This record gives sequence, structure tokens and C-alpha cells, in this order.
Amino acid sequence: MLNKQNRRSFLGKLSLAGAASLLGAPGLATAGHGLVGAKERTSQASAPADLKITDVTCGYIKNGHDLIVKISTNQGIVGWGQAVDAVTGTYFMVKQMGNRLKGQNPLNPNRLQEELRKGAFFGGAQSGVYVAVMTAIESALWDVTGKALGLPVYQLLGGKFRDKIRVYCDTALYTARNPTPDDYAKSASGAVKKGYNAVKFDIDEGNDPNKYDRYNWTASPAELDRMYNAIAAVRKAVGPKVDICVDMHGRYDATTGHRVAKLMEPLNLMWLEEPVPADNIDVYKRITAETSTPICTGENIYLAYGFTRLLEEGGADIIMPDLQKAGGLGEAQRIANLANLYYVPFSPHMVASFLGAMASAHVCASVPNFQIMEWQTYMDTEEIYKDVVVYDKPFVEKSFITVSDKPGIGVDINEEGMKKYHPKDIPFFV
Ligand code: MG
Repeated sequence: MLNKQNRRSFLGKLSLAGAASLLGAPGLATAGHGLVGAKERTSQASAPADLKITDVTCGYIKNGHDLIVKISTNQGIVGWGQAVDAVTGTYFMVKQMGNRLKGQNPLNPNRLQEELRKGAFFGGAQSGVYVAVMTAIESALWDVTGKALGLPVYQLLGGKFRDKIRVYCDTALYTARNPTPDDYAKSASGAVKKGYNAVKFDIDEGNDPNKYDRYNWTASPAELDRMYNAIAAVRKAVGPKVDICVDMHGRYDATTGHRVAKLMEPLNLMWLEEPVPADNIDVYKRITAETSTPICTGENIYLAYGFTRLLEEGGADIIMPDLQKAGGLGEAQRIANLANLYYVPFSPHMVASFLGAMASAHVCASVPNFQIMEWQTYMDTEEIYKDVVVYDKPFVEKSFITVSDKPGIGVDINEEGMKKYHPKDIPFFV
């Protein structure tokens, strides 16, 4: 006779096989792995009704640019979340939000996120850094919830559409000063050799000697030439089947953004990212309408509210919210689902860490319109990324991350390993 555990595994396999034959397509989600044994994995010490948040503490890496939040509970379950960008100096903001959560049951991430969002001065009026900090806390709530219930976050978000998350490699060639087309070609070929099937390059270059003015970001003809030659070299190096993204970091004016989009048309980009700053949707709408180059934006837009007009107006072909900034994992799913109503692909920006990458991967798995997620080439090589986390290796295989089936996010922080990267003048997880 099958015992409970075996029976559960058997049924899990059965449903998996059924789904595969029904859908008839390899690569689709093998829904069920996260559920197999979920009950058995659930700690008896974590009766959901009795779970309470006891503390919310934080630490920082990368000179304070990356915030790691830890939520502790009365039953020993700990949740982790991350925020990036302008979060330096947010220690007291984390403590203040944490004080609001202490004593509450963490198993309601959506409600608690709404309380934080509306609970500051003039409810709901906050954006930017406030939302980024809230994002780290919200992600940690999902991690706690998953661990308490024995379920991976994607399952809590409604299940998954896919098991593997495609990533593109940001080659970080931007660390070189005025790279040549040959540098671009070599960098692209290197990424493809490592197994990546999509690459991203920056073409905004403040040090270009052909730039006439430090403040006016109208590109000169020689600058436009540099941009085209760089990406043409990439296309030549990788051939027609590798996807290429190009980023302008929202630095240029409308004329330049429009010109570059037109210029890149023969190179068949996956997208041109932030050709102009994120603020003016009308300019985005015009550029998007007048070029065949797909236009992408979103890493500097917050909450689902921030994406409504952009999507309604057809301001972008693809959106790329940063899931360590935009409001949380639940918020990210709402953004993706909103975009899906306009048939717009969801391709998150990701500059965080293995923790942030896996948190994002759960959201990407849970929505139909996921296209591709960012991965940084330095995460493959720099020790910090491996030192600060506990994770399953390898993290990325041939341009894909396998979504974790562990309870919660599936990547934990190694506090001991993180210590040496934490700025000395900020309290560390206290
Ligand atoms: Mg960008």
C-alpha cells in the first residue's frame, strides 16, 4: 500500500504526465513539483494562525546600494527580500516600516504591502525610495509565507506557466571607456560562447569625444555613427538568431531617441531600452509608433499605477519593471497582468543578486506574458554574489534559470558571508 508521501509523489507524476500529453509541448511548466510533499514539508511549529512577525532588520551590500531585509518570526521562520538603486541610507525607513508589521501575521503579503503603501504620511503618496524599501519587505513576506506553508512563491502566486526563466546577459562592457566595435563584437561572442542566447549593450557614452556638451544629450552625427557601428558589430558577431537589446539609459532627448530607434531598424533588435527619460509618455508613444524597433521602458517606473497610462497610450512595445524597486512580487505580478491586457511582453530589469534574481523568477514563472529577464555577466564571476547567499548551483544554465521548488523564494542570505560587504557605519541586522 502506498504511504501518504509516495501516493502524493505518484499523483504528482501522474498529473505531470497528463499535462505534458495534453499540451503536447516540451518546455512548458511541469506544474506540481512545488506541491509534491508540500504538507509534509510544512513545519508543525508553524501553525499559520499563530505565526507573528517579531522583527524586521536589514543589511546592505555594494556600498549601500543594495538593501537586504530580514523578517523574523515567533516560530523561527525567517524571510529575505532585496531592494536596489537609491536605497542607501534607508536603515531607519526599514525600521519604521518594520515597526508597523511587528506582531502581525506575515501570511498576508498583499494586505501588508497595501498597509505600508497607504500608511505613510499622506497615504499612498510615496514613490521612489519608499516604494523600493517596501519592495524588499514585501518580498521577504512572500518568502516567510512560502516557508511557513511549505510552498514555493510561484505556487502562492497562482502557479507557473514555465519551469525555466530565460535570461539575457548584460555584458557589462560599460565598464570599459569608449569601447570599439571590435570590443562589442568580442564581448557579444564571449557571452554567446558561455551559452547565452540574448545579450544587452549600452550605447550611452558620456566620454565620447564627439559629444559637444556635457549636459545636452543631443547626439552628434559622429555619436550616432558610433552607436550604429557598435551594435552592427554585435549583430555581425552573433548572427541573426541571437537576441540583442540596446540600452540608452533614458539620457537622450526626443530627437536623438527617435533617430537611434530608426537607425537600429536594420539590426533587428529585441528592443531599444529607454531611448528617452521615463517621464514623458507622449514622447514614448511617438517614438514607439514611428519605428519598427521595439521600444522598451519601465525600470524607473513604480507600482502598477505607474504603468497604466504608458500601457493605455501604447507608449512601449515591451515593459521592463525592476522587481527589486517596483513595489514587490505581488505588485510585479499585477504589473505583468496589466501589461498582458495590452498584449505587451514583460521583461524585468534585474541588477540585484541571486536572491533578487530568484524572487523575480517566481513572478516571471507565474505570468503568461513573460519574455526574458536580465542577468549580469559579473554575477557569474564576482565572489560577492556567491558569498552573500545560500543557493543551488548552477544558478544559470545556457541562458535559463530553473525556478526553485523550495519553500519560499529558495535562496537564503548567508549573514556571515555578507558581513564583509556591509558598510561599517550602518547597524547590521539589528
Ligand atoms: Mg536599463
